[in-house]
Amino acid sequence: MKRVGVIGGGQLARMMIAPAVELGLPIGVLAEAEGAPAALATTLVGDYRDLETVRAFAATVDVVTFDHEHVPQAVLRALVADGVVVRPGPDALQYAQDKLLMRERLGELGLPVPAWGRVASPEELAAFISRHGPRVVVKTPRGGYDGKGVRVIEHAAEADDWFASLAEDGNGGSLLVEEFVEFSRELAQLVARRPGGEIALWPVVETVQKDGVCAEVVAPAPASDGPVSETAAAIAVAVAEGLDVTGVLAVELFETVDGRVLVNELAMRPHNSGHWSQDGAVTGQFEQHLRAVVDLPLGDPSPLAPAAVMINVLGGPEGQSMPDRYDRAAALNPSAKLHSYDKLSRPGRKVGHVTLIGDDAERVLADARAVAAVFAD
Ligand code: ADP
Repeated sequence: MKRVGVIGGGQLARMMIAPAVELGLPIGVLAEAEGAPAALATTLVGDYRDLETVRAFAATVDVVTFDHEHVPQAVLRALVADGVVVRPGPDALQYAQDKLLMRERLGELGLPVPAWGRVASPEELAAFISRHGPRVVVKTPRGGYDGKGVRVIEHAAEADDWFASLAEDGNGGSLLVEEFVEFSRELAQLVARRPGGEIALWPVVETVQKDGVCAEVVAPAPASDGPVSETAAAIAVAVAEGLDVTGVLAVELFETVDGRVLVNELAMRPHNSGHWSQDGAVTGQFEQHLRAVVDLPLGDPSPLAPAAVMINVLGGPEGQSMPDRYDRAAALNPSAKLHSYDKLSRPGRKVGHVTLIGDDAERVLADARAVAAVFAD
């Protein structure tokens, strides 16, 4: 069996460990620090930005994949030049690393995106606001996550600090600015793609963010039969094929008040919007990602029940971890699946999630919220 090496020791790497064990796939992790969520499978601790560190790690595995998208292109390209199998490869991953590149490429592929612009100065930003305002959304192209690096603004001066830090970085960079999309809800379409092109799609899901952070996911998205799910699926397949993605791809979408579906963001790895599939689909996203990157036939992504709900545990009593409250949560609902990332709670920190499946989405949502609430207070 091929040995899988995951760069990054966060919860996504952690959640690849169980399916790797089940499949009998050797798995190793390059973690940033001792005691990271994926410590169980950590084989090297070091800096993923350092080529020699990443090379030493890659030498111990047959295929390299990712927990996060922050490995520099120069490092990835050097690995490929060494003959290392990297999935997804740097040509695909660059579009998940840089929102400006992503917007440009999706436009070339003819995919629906919000009106957007590349702005290199407050004057250019002001010009975009006068065309698309009063509100616009300004984003740092690189390094953002969980809403960090995203600001809703009305005046160009509200991004002055970002322009200043771009100038300090000396990379002469630009910011991404987008029209403020009036969406009725946010959706996500997850897809897995094997190197030869085989594709498997989970149903489109609804995601709810609080303060820019994913809070809840309902799978499938309610009332998404027909055009919405077909459009979401077609977009995700077009992205996976157009960008030559291997492994799991998450396409975050806006469903607009006037019924259009627009692409917001891409992630080329398992994604929070797919956690429900661990317990709610025949093949969960972590197993599927492993299958795809080692080039095994993909598993069946069909849901196991009419509805699945995943609720993130964000925060909780400071210094505690989820297992401290397992007694209460498990007693409250023996059907709830509890997932801990082995992190100590801090305000707003994602420390785990709760998943529940059932016949009726509203009922499942209420029941899942009740279990998640046990970890919040
Ligand atoms: P991140 O990379 O941090 O997840 P996103 O680009 O996905 O950032 O934006 C985070 C959230 O901000 C989105 O989930 C959405 O709720 C909101 N958002 C982003 N872009 C827009 C937009 N153009 N119009 C309206 N809301 C937006």
